[in-house]
Amino acid sequence: MSSYPKPINQLIESLSYLPGIGPKTAERLAFYIITMSGNKVDHLITALQNAKNKVFNCSVCNNLTDRDPCLICQDERRESGLICVVQDPKDVIAIEKVRDFQGRYHVLQGVISPMEGIGPDDLNMKELLERINSENIKEILIATDPTVEGEATAMYLTKLVKPMGVKVTRLAYGLPMGGDLEYADEMTLQQAFEGRKEM
Ligand SMILES: [Zn+2]
Repeated sequence: MSSYPKPINQLIESLSYLPGIGPKTAERLAFYIITMSGNKVDHLITALQNAKNKVFNCSVCNNLTDRDPCLICQDERRESGLICVVQDPKDVIAIEKVRDFQGRYHVLQGVISPMEGIGPDDLNMKELLERINSENIKEILIATDPTVEGEATAMYLTKLVKPMGVKVTRLAYGLPMGGDLEYADEMTLQQAFEGRKEM
């Protein structure tokens, strides 16, 4: 690699910061990029900067957005008393594709994981409790992944939320245990919503 001009080495190094991109792939991408037209490279640079600088977390639900509150939180047609709790913004996209869910969301930004040192205080749980108090919430649908951590987080949330007089339900997983919600097919996800169980 040391025989390449310095700008190419820098590009290869930057690309290798990305997950799943090993040195060989980084090298191939770097050489592809230098053959791209100036316009396309400018477009790529602008897209990277915009995604980084203009996307932030919704102040209400924590989903990724470029306006605050996000479009889902702003949508008056949505059921206001129902919140679906997910661990990741990508789960919101997966559920929205099914189009059956009419409530709003709350993104925890992770799950409780003692192994990784993530406790309840590291997640957006306090914000969820505040919403339950201020938004007249009637049902919390917990849609964390069917993993050990996802289940533990669902149990923890249930213990917190139930005493507040709110109905707590959990997705009925035809989803495989250990699976990831964002990769579930639409039919499986639709059935999981229809068959949700009270905790
Ligand atoms: Zn929002």
